Amino acid sequence: MLYLDKKILLQLCAVMAMLSLFSCKPDPETFAIHTPIYPGSGENVTFSLKKIDGNVENVKLYETVQAINASGAVTGTSATVLLQEWNNPGFPIQFVKSGGYASNRIVNYRFEVYGNDKHYTHDIKFATRPYPVSNQPAPVYIVGDINNVLNLVFIPDTDMNINTFYNAVKVDIDEVFHGEDYIRRFRNSYNFFINPFTGHAHDYDTETRDHEIPSNWDQLSFAQGKVILHNRDIRDFAEPDKLLFSAEHYVKGTLLHESGHNFYRLADEYGGGVHWQESELPNNWSSLSACQSAAAGRGMSSADAHQMGTSGWYKLCPASCVMESSGTAMHPYERPCRDRILYSILHRAGGE
Ligand SMILES: [Zn+2]
Repeated sequence: MLYLDKKILLQLCAVMAMLSLFSCKPDPETFAIHTPIYPGSGENVTFSLKKIDGNVENVKLYETVQAINASGAVTGTSATVLLQEWNNPGFPIQFVKSGGYASNRIVNYRFEVYGNDKHYTHDIKFATRPYPVSNQPAPVYIVGDINNVLNLVFIPDTDMNINTFYNAVKVDIDEVFHGEDYIRRFRNSYNFFINPFTGHAHDYDTETRDHEIPSNWDQLSFAQGKVILHNRDIRDFAEPDKLLFSAEHYVKGTLLHESGHNFYRLADEYGGGVHWQESELPNNWSSLSACQSAAAGRGMSSADAHQMGTSGWYKLCPASCVMESSGTAMHPYERPCRDRILYSILHRAGGE
C-alpha cells in the first residue's frame, strides 16, 4: 500500500509540475469592440477581439438580437447563435456580420475566451441607429447595470461631422478606456452612450467657462460623465458640478485627464490647475506635512511629496501621471491616483 501511495504521489508531482509549466504562460487578457460603434440598419458590423497578453487556446463568438419599441421595451428576442469558433487563433480576431442588423435592435454579442484552463467572457450590448427611444442617449457599449458601473455619454459638438464623431467614439473606447494600463483592468465597469443631440464646448482661455449643454440634458443625470467631443483646437476644461467635460475628439490624453476629474474626483496635479483635497484617498493635499504623512500608505515615500508650482498644494504622483499630463500622448495613472480610481469603482459597484 505504501508503494502505491508513493506512486500516486509521484504522479501527482508530475501533474503539478506540468501545471506549473503551463502556468508559466501568462493568463489571457483580451478586449472586444465592434465597428461601427453605432451601426445603421443593414450596415456591415465587424466584431474584433484583440489580445494584450497571454495564452489563448479557443474563442467562440455568439450573438443574441432583441427588437425594441419606442419605449425601449423588448418586443422579441432571437435565439442565441454561434457566429464563429477559433482554435489557437492569431490576433486580432475579426468577424464581419455581413448586412448587419435592422433598426430598432439591441445586439448582444459575447466572446468566450479559453486559455490556461481559464474561461471568461466579454458580454457587450449595443443599439442600432436610429435608437427609437426619443430624447434618450443610445447605448453603444454596455457591459453592466447602469446603477453599478461608471456611465459615460459622448455628446457631439455642433462643429463635428457626425461620421467622424461616431468613429472617434469607437477609437476612444478602444484606445483610451481599454488602453490605459490601470483602468482597462476594469473593462466591466464602464458603459458608453451616444447622445442624439449636440452640445458646444467653450475655450477655457477665451470664452465663457460653461459649456453649452444639449437639449435633453435632464435625461443624462444617470451618467457619471458627459463629454462633448469637438473638432476645433481649444483649451478644454471640466465642470465637476455638472459631471461635464470637453475634449478634442482625437486627443486621447485630454479625454483621459478630464474624465479623471468626473469619474473619480481626481484633482489637477499641475500648478495653476484646480486643487482640492478629497476626504478619502486624495491625490492633492493642502499641506506638505499632510502629504508626507500620507505617503507610506499610498505606496510612495515622504520624499515624493512636493508642491505643485507655487500653488500651496502638494502631491505624491510623479510628473508622468495623467492628472499632470494631458494632450495627445496618453500617460498612465500613477499609484496615488490608482487608489482613488479603485475606491470610486468599488463605491459604484456598491450602488453609490
Ligand atoms: Zn496622479
